[in-house]
Amino acid sequence: MGDQLGIIVLIKQVPDIEKVRFDFETGRLDRSSAEAVINPFDLNALEAAVQIKEAVGATVTAISMGPKAAESALRDAIARGADRGILLTDTRFAGADTLATSYALSSAIRRLSSFDLVICGEKTIDGDTAQVGPEVAEFLGIPHVAYVEEILEADKKRIIVKSRMGRNYYVLALRLPGLITVTKDVNAPRLPTLRDKIRSRRAEITVWDADSLSEVADTRLFGVSGSPTTVARVYAPHAEKRKGMIFRGNPEEAAEKIVGVLKDLRVVG
Ligand SMILES: Cc1cc2nc3c(=O)[nH]c(=O)nc-3n(C[C@H](O)[C@H](O)[C@H](O)COP(=O)(O)OP(=O)(O)OC[C@H]3O[C@@H](n4cnc5c(N)ncnc54)[C@H](O)[C@@H]3O)c2cc1C
Repeated sequence: MGDQLGIIVLIKQVPDIEKVRFDFETGRLDRSSAEAVINPFDLNALEAAVQIKEAVGATVTAISMGPKAAESALRDAIARGADRGILLTDTRFAGADTLATSYALSSAIRRLSSFDLVICGEKTIDGDTAQVGPEVAEFLGIPHVAYVEEILEADKKRIIVKSRMGRNYYVLALRLPGLITVTKDVNAPRLPTLRDKIRSRRAEITVWDADSLSEVADTRLFGVSGSPTTVARVYAPHAEKRKGMIFRGNPEEAAEKIVGVLKDLRVVG
């Protein structure tokens, strides 16, 4: 990869949240009810990678784990400036919780052997845990900074970023190889041109199944078998309305009734 930075962007395909329906019987999103799009925060991650590529030179690899149909997300990423796409797809990856997802993604990165920077979205709009980025960094044994709002400098050795955690901003220099997760404030993702879209249709997407990662990973730790957590129940919290009482009569009578209720509730003695 020479002097060029090797940047990996993790991209998840998610249902269009404006249109998707929730099946309360099964507690799952009915993914067939809406078209799939790139997770919006991952568009920011991709844009950040492409801007670094334009500024200092880089090769940008987009990786996604998902069904075969997620290939379209990788083509979209190529149309927006990624150089290549890798899809992890296999029934053995299915049913993964965040840990097994992160293990599979980090194993794919490990297989690439040479990389400098991994960029993720801060979270997804369907799972919304914000766990995958930091977990991938831990599996790879590299430092990470989450919630990056601005990239101040990047070169082969380090990246300087501004990150917001709670009410505070932190300016941090991250030694590479490292990982960052970005917020929507980091940039405004570009739209692909028609020419780029047509070009991306012809691009070859590399497809890896679980066995493709067997030299760098324990394949039993993918999917359901590698997931220590299970979803026991999904439900919308019951919203309790404010309970009101009307005390009728003249002001003295009403005040007496209010005091009576407050005494019953042990609010006053
Ligand atoms: C017990 C359990 C079972 C589950 N079973 C299923 C299932 O059968 N099918 C299913 O679709 N989901 C399943 N999920 C959800 C699945 O674990 C999450 O979708 C996945 O771990 C990502 O978590 P998240 O969406 O919260 O990502 P976050 O941690 O919020 O994402 C942060 C960033 O990580 C990257 N990222 C996250 N996921 C991917 C990905 N797949 N590919 C590339 N980059 C990614 C993106 O850059 C993203 O912006 C299950 C979850 C649990 C807990």
